[in-house]
Order: sequence, then C-alpha cells, then structure tokens
Amino acid sequence: MTTRSAIKSSAMKMSHPHRTKMHAATQSQPEFVETFAYDAPPLKQTNALMNQTTTTNVDGKIDIEYARARIPAELPRSKRLQVEERIKKLLIEKNAVLVAHYYVDPYIQDLALATGGCVGDSLEMARFGQAHSADTLVVAGVRFMGESAKILSMEKTVLMADLEAECSLDLGCPIEEFSAFCDAHPDRTVVVYANTSAEVKARADWVVTSSIGLEIVTHLHNRGEKLIWGPDRHLGNFIQKKTGADMLLWQGSCIVHNEFKATELVQLKNEHPDAVVLVHPESPDSVVELADVVGSTSKLLSATKDMDASTFIVATDLGILHEMQKQSPNKRFLAAPTAGESATCKSCAFCPWMAMNGLEGIEHALNTNSGEIILDKKLATRALLPLQRMLDFAAEHKKRVQASGDIVKDRPLFQNVGAA
Ligand code: SF4
Repeated sequence: MTTRSAIKSSAMKMSHPHRTKMHAATQSQPEFVETFAYDAPPLKQTNALMNQTTTTNVDGKIDIEYARARIPAELPRSKRLQVEERIKKLLIEKNAVLVAHYYVDPYIQDLALATGGCVGDSLEMARFGQAHSADTLVVAGVRFMGESAKILSMEKTVLMADLEAECSLDLGCPIEEFSAFCDAHPDRTVVVYANTSAEVKARADWVVTSSIGLEIVTHLHNRGEKLIWGPDRHLGNFIQKKTGADMLLWQGSCIVHNEFKATELVQLKNEHPDAVVLVHPESPDSVVELADVVGSTSKLLSATKDMDASTFIVATDLGILHEMQKQSPNKRFLAAPTAGESATCKSCAFCPWMAMNGLEGIEHALNTNSGEIILDKKLATRALLPLQRMLDFAAEHKKRVQASGDIVKDRPLFQNVGAA
C-alpha cells in the first residue's frame, strides 16, 4: 500500500451533529470541524460508501476504506473579512497567487478573483499558474490539482490549505496496482484522466481531461491502438461508446458524480420541461443519457452563458453554481437529484475534499509555507510527458496557443480541454 492509498478516503457529504467534533484553533493550526459521512449506523453507512468508491479490475479488487474530512469551521463575517485582508497582504508580500477550483468555497473563489488569481478547472488552474509570474502558487482544490500545477511549474512553490484534500478517482487508482494492470497488457496505450497522482501520470502515455478525452481516444483508435483507460469508469464508458475504441477500463468513480439519479432527474425534467440538462461525464450512464450537454465544468459553464434557455438542471458539484449564477444572474439553476424519493436531502452534490479548503488554512499555508507539494524531479519530468502530449495535441488540433495568464482572456483556449 502506498502512503497515498493508505490515507483513508473521505466520503463526507454533510456535517452531522452526531458525528461532528470541534477542534479549537491553536497558534499553528486553524480551527476545524471533523466530520464523517452520514449518521449511525456508521459501519453500514461506511460500507455503503465503500461500495461507491471500491475499485475493481480484471486482476482483483482495491478497497478504499472509510471517510474522513477536516472541514474548516464557518467564520463569522467580521473574522472572515479580517482573514481575507491578511491573505491579501501575504499574497503581495510573498509574490504569491491564489488559484481556485469551481468547487471550493465561494468566498475563496471570490478572493482568488479579487487578488488577480483565477477560478477554473484543474487544467486552467495549472496553466494559469504556469503562465503567472508569481513565485508561489496557492492551490485551492484537491491534491492532484496541486501536483499538476507543480508538474507544470517545478521552479515554483506550490502550497495547499490541506494536503489530505484528496479525490476518490485518485485514491482508487494506486500506482502499484495500476502499474501491474498496465504491465499485464503491454500492447496497450495507457490513457489516464487528469484526476490521478503524479505517479500514475508518470506511468501513462497520455493524460487527458474530460472533453479532450473523446478526441484523443478517437485519434488513437484511428491509429489502430488498443487502450487502457483509467481511472473513471463512467467517463471511460462514455468515450468507449462514442468511439468504439478497444478500451480496458479501470473501475474507479467519483463519489460525487456517481450519486446522481436518473429516475429522479426524469421527474425534475418533467416538472421543468424547458430546462436544459447539463451533466458532467463522470456521472452514471443513465444520467448522461438524459443530458442536453455533457462536458467538463468549463464546458457546462459556457453552456449556461451561451444557450438561450432560462432554466438549467446541473449535474455536477454544486460549487459551480456560484460562478454560473454570477455569470448569468437572470437565469435559474436547479441541482440535479442525488437521492431517491424518500431522502430528505435531494441533492448533496458537494465534494468533501474540496470542502477541506478554508480561508484560515490558506492563511496558515502562506504564513508557514506548510502544505507544500513536493515532487521528485525525475518523477515530475516523466509525468510532464503525457501531460504535455495532451497540451500539444490540443494546440495542434484546436489551434490553441499558450495561456497569457489572464483567465478571462484565456478562457476560449480551455474550452473543450477542461478537466473535472
Ligand atoms: S468531485 Fe472532483 S475532486 Fe471530488 S471526488 Fe469527484 S472527481 Fe474527485
């Protein structure tokens, strides 16, 4: 077992008083709330979540165990404003820039934009960081995003609020097992999704993101190549069906997108017949089939701006609604259902690991240089190869150019290349 796979996967959906423990702030650590998924009986619920995150392949089974996430305590307004002011000063003092994912706390997203940073998907974040002149990148997202930023900017310091902010796709694809799987099929080209560790990227021939995956697999299929695809089985299925390519799929999934429910989505569509349904391709097949638009967070965001519809049903992490609503204040956004009829929570599509990012954690990282992403140079150089291959493919096939560092100006560059 690797250190990464030994870290217990977090599968918390909402904090619950029975399973919540407050931790006081100390000088070196911000205050946080320790939360676990669901209420009692914990074992049964944990098992239910384990099933969602269990990964199998032809050679056996990999289990991710129970869930744990340190969710930062919500700050009172006056304290939040003070912390934000201190972060602004620290960013200037340290020549640092804040890059945030669409799924993190809206206050962090707003702070990133207010301080000249960016809000985007993982590739946008990494490319923005690469093009920016800052010495330090503060990545508000999950660990593989910090690693991607580091791979593209090895000379820079990359900090994260919490290094244990993980991803079920990354955790469900440990390097030893995945490497053995690849070794067992040496005749296949290895294509991995961006939501993987630096080690898995370094084992791959290609790294792809959710939208460009289809084009790259078509390209490889047309060249007669047989593929290994990992780790997301839903995205792999989607692409396999579209292209007819010979793909062996690693059976990972995203614990957030895996939860969307087709039957309940049909009911919601019936209640809002004019609504456009936007679905991230990490969702189950039955949900993807109901979509009007399937794509990465960036693609879904573009659809809400470009389409005439006034109502959208959104099947991805609900953190994206902040940016959607900001960009289209007169449109209406409905969360796609993640629960069956009897459930009290109709949509709990929040990534527990993304929720581990807090303003105090960011301040703490900047103050102490903690949460630094450290990568072995040789590993990063190898991991850059398949990542660069994707960027070159995108540049060649979509006539894209290098990012300037201005996220608004650069946004067209990343359409259809967006990661989760
Ligand atoms: S929402 Fe994104 S980061 Fe969270 S588990 Fe799913 S793929 Fe990973």
